[in-house]
Amino acid sequence: MLEGVNARAAKRREIDPADERELLDAIERWVEREVAPRVLEYDHADRYPHELVEQMKELGLFGATIGAEYGGLALPAATYARIVMAISSVWMSITGIFNSHLMLAHAIERFGTDRQKGEWLPKLAKGEVRGGIALTEPDAGTDLQGIRTTARRAGDGYVINGAKTWISNGIEGSCFALLVKTDPQAEPRHKGMSLFIAPKQEGLKVGRKLEKLGYKCIDSAELVFESYSVPAHYLIGEQEGQGFYQASSGLELGRINVAARGVGIAEGALALATKYSQGRKTFGKPICDHQAIQLKLADMATRARAARLLTLDAANAFDRGERCDLEAGMAKLFASEAALENATESMRIHGAYGYSKEYHIERLYRDAPLTCIGEGTNEMQRIIIARQWIKHHPAP
Ligand SMILES: Cc1cc2nc3c(=O)[nH]c(=O)nc-3n(C[C@H](O)[C@H](O)[C@H](O)COP(=O)(O)OP(=O)(O)OC[C@H]3O[C@@H](n4cnc5c(N)ncnc54)[C@H](O)[C@@H]3O)c2cc1C
Repeated sequence: MLEGVNARAAKRREIDPADERELLDAIERWVEREVAPRVLEYDHADRYPHELVEQMKELGLFGATIGAEYGGLALPAATYARIVMAISSVWMSITGIFNSHLMLAHAIERFGTDRQKGEWLPKLAKGEVRGGIALTEPDAGTDLQGIRTTARRAGDGYVINGAKTWISNGIEGSCFALLVKTDPQAEPRHKGMSLFIAPKQEGLKVGRKLEKLGYKCIDSAELVFESYSVPAHYLIGEQEGQGFYQASSGLELGRINVAARGVGIAEGALALATKYSQGRKTFGKPICDHQAIQLKLADMATRARAARLLTLDAANAFDRGERCDLEAGMAKLFASEAALENATESMRIHGAYGYSKEYHIERLYRDAPLTCIGEGTNEMQRIIIARQWIKHHPAP
């Protein structure tokens, strides 16, 4: 019992509210000064924002959730979620550059050996090495246990063959948490899965950059592994068969991150609609004075607020060291649907201008659907929520 309490206390992270406010102010100023004026240009050119990435390094974002002993900011998930919300309310794409990176770091920090943590986390915290998480394959996304990439033991290491797709930071990143099968015949299938630290080196070819509806600028790519050799100490935790568990436990934090992105889009779309509806006039009055528009604004504001509260609720549970897949799943489901609905409604409030590439709302409308797919589709979220719900509420 006490052991459990101690383990949870060790995981608990706290920040002084004044420090959190100072940090959020710095982020908001950066977003306003550096990000907002450039977003349309970057998005339309689908250009990787190297300049902003350098600034993100200085802000410490690549080490946001990494422990202080490795040079990170050791932020609680709730503070981190607030940062993601603030940035996503203006430009969601760039949060993917450090979100996926931090999931790689999370896997190493939570499950890695001391040697792995010492070798990789300081470089990841500085953004010197940037990366992501490589789970999805051309024939296996939701059904991750169906992956075909294999790692075969060979002497002191492993030889990996297979292909991953849709990998965020696949081109600009240089290291990935790579999910493979070390025992393809294992039953149940997850017992044969392992997670490796996979830096870019001989044997790893980056395939084409995938063209997308939205979520521009961040690179999504195929990674092909052909006779790719790594030493045995690149196996996270140096124990085979833990990969599915390690990857899934990262998804809890991943879902909070995606929920925070959804909140950002939902709030951003609301802010755009609020401003536009007070300036645009029809029939002699601002459109916000028409009841039809007021109904939309009321629903949008309520959705955005509910999404924020659900997300912070999940993040706070995570920070207390509690298992929170139910809360994280609910937050991810609700906030991503709120993002999609608010972006659509805001676009409609903008009339024809909502359809124009000169306005921001069409970009939010293209970015929002990703939040319904990433870190587990919303169909799967509903299934996870229902299973957990029934488990917690057995019939008497
Ligand atoms: C822009 C972008 C970035 C991404 N970044 C990454 C990344 O960095 N790393 C990574 O590993 N992956 C990444 N992904 C992949 C993403 O995680 C997968 O696309 C997602 O998990 C869904 O898998 P899938 O596309 O293969 O869909 P499928 O699994 O083929 O699902 C297709 C449809 O069937 C539904 N479905 C599937 N199974 C069930 C079921 N049992 N019950 C009910 N419905 C079901 C799904 O909800 C979906 O609607 C990214 C994807 C995108 C679009």
